[in-house]
Amino acid sequence: MSATDVVVIGGGPAGSVCASRLARRGCSVVVLEKETFPRFHLGESLLPRSLPVLEEIGVLEAVKARFIPKYGARFHDDIRKKKDRFSFDGAWKNDIVHAFEVPRDAFDELLLDHARASGADVRQRWTAERVVTNERGRAAGVDATAPDGTTVRIDARFVVDASGRDVLTARASGGTSKIEGLDQTALYAHFEGVPRQGGKLEGDIDIILFPSGLAPRVADGEGGVARPNWFWVIPFKDGRTSVGAVVSRAWMRDRRARLSAGESAIATSLFEIAVSESATATELLAKATRLWPHAEATADFSYRVGATSGDGWLAIGDAGGFIDPLFSTGAHIAMTGGLLAADVIAQALESSDEERRLVGEWERYVRAGAETFILAVQAFYAGPLVGVLFAEDKHAALRRSITSLLAGDVFNDAIWLRDVRLRLKEMLASAGTDG
Ligand SMILES: Cc1cc2nc3c(=O)[nH]c(=O)nc-3n(C[C@H](O)[C@H](O)[C@H](O)COP(=O)(O)OP(=O)(O)OC[C@H]3O[C@@H](n4cnc5c(N)ncnc54)[C@H](O)[C@@H]3O)c2cc1C
Repeated sequence: MSATDVVVIGGGPAGSVCASRLARRGCSVVVLEKETFPRFHLGESLLPRSLPVLEEIGVLEAVKARFIPKYGARFHDDIRKKKDRFSFDGAWKNDIVHAFEVPRDAFDELLLDHARASGADVRQRWTAERVVTNERGRAAGVDATAPDGTTVRIDARFVVDASGRDVLTARASGGTSKIEGLDQTALYAHFEGVPRQGGKLEGDIDIILFPSGLAPRVADGEGGVARPNWFWVIPFKDGRTSVGAVVSRAWMRDRRARLSAGESAIATSLFEIAVSESATATELLAKATRLWPHAEATADFSYRVGATSGDGWLAIGDAGGFIDPLFSTGAHIAMTGGLLAADVIAQALESSDEERRLVGEWERYVRAGAETFILAVQAFYAGPLVGVLFAEDKHAALRRSITSLLAGDVFNDAIWLRDVRLRLKEMLASAGTDG
C-alpha cells in the first residue's frame, strides 16, 4: 500500500504532461505505465499551439533539439488534381510558426523521462486494473499489477485516467460509442527514401486525398457523397517517413473481397492497393523502401466516452474520446487537456469545495476546443470543407482561419473562431447532416 496526491494511469503525452505539471506544482504524483518505453505509437505530427504546453513544463528545448520542425501542411487532391499549402506563419496568431514531426517512441520517452525528472514517481510495466472508490463513492486510488505480478493498491486523493485508447474509466462505466459516419481504418508503415522538399519545407506534413473508387451510395450507405480516402506522409529528422492510408469501411470491404483467398499480410496488400489508387502516393513511394516487414492496420478509431470526469477523477487525452486523425489533433488535445487538468487538480487539492466547479470549467473548456475539430472533420468527410480547402480564390481571412485551425488554435473564443464554427455548422447543414 502506498499513498500519493495523484495517481496518473498511462504515460503517453496526456499523462506525462499532466504528471510533469503536477510534480512541478509540488504535488506528489505516481505515473503507472503498462509498457516499457520506448514503444511505437501512432500520432507523429504535432501542432504549433502545443509548443506553449511543452514550454510550460520545461521540455521545449529538448524537443527542439531532437525533432524536425514542421512549418506547414500541404494538401493534395488526386481527385480534382489540386493542391495547396498552408504555412503556419499565415495563422491569425502567428507568434509560433512551426510544430514538430516526432517518432512517438522517442517523443513519448522524452516526455515520460521529463515527468520523472520533474519529480513524478514513474513506474513502467505497472498496469492499473481498476479505479477504487471509498465508502462515499469517490475515487480514492487504483489497484495495479506490479511487474512481479502482485496486486498493489495505491491510495490517491485524485485519479487521472490517461490510459489512451484503453479507456480504463469508460470501460468500467459502459464503454465507448462509435461516431456516426466515422468508420475509417488506417493502414500504415515507416519508409526510407521518400523524396522531400528542401529547406524549411522539409518537415511539412502531406495530406493526400484519393478517390474511393466506389459509387457514392456504396461508399457511404447514404448521403450520396463519396467520402475521400487520404494519406498522411510525415517526415522524420533521421530520414524515415511515416506513411498511412485512411480509408472507409466500404473501401476496406470492397478491396478485401478482391484479394486472393488465403493471402497473408492483408494490411500490406491493402496498403499497396491504396498506394496504387493515388497518383501522388505512387510517385512519392516509387523509390522508397518499407522499413517494417508488414504494414499495420487499426480500425474504427473514432469514439466518444460517456463521462470524462466524476468525483475524484477525470480522463484526459484519448481516454476521454478520439475523433479521426485528419488534422493531427490527438496529441494537441491530450497535452493541452493534460496541462490544464493538472492546474485544476492542484487547485482542487488545496480547496476541495471547489473541485466540482473547477473540473466542470476544465471539461467545458477542453470540450469546446475539441468540438471545433470534430465539426471540421465532419465537414471534411461530408464534402463541403474539401471544396473550401482547395478553393483557388480563398479570401485572405478564410486562409488565415484555415491555417489557424491547422495550427491547433481552438482553445479560445476569438471572433474568427466563432465565425469558423458557424461556417462549419452551415457546411454540415448544407450537406444534409447536422453533425
Ligand atoms: C491512425 C491514427 C493516426 C494518428 N495521427 C496523429 C497525428 O498525426 N498527430 C496527433 O497529434 N495525433 C494523432 N493520432 C492520435 C494520437 O495517437 C493520440 O491522440 C495520442 O497518442 C493521445 O495521447 P494519450 O496520452 O491520450 O494516449 P496514448 O498516447 O495512447 O498513451 C496512453 C498510455 O497509457 C498506457 N496505458 C493504457 N492502459 C493502461 C493501464 N491500464 N495501466 C497503465 N498504463 C496504461 C499505454 O500503454 C499508453 O502508453 C492518431 C491516431 C490514429 C488512430
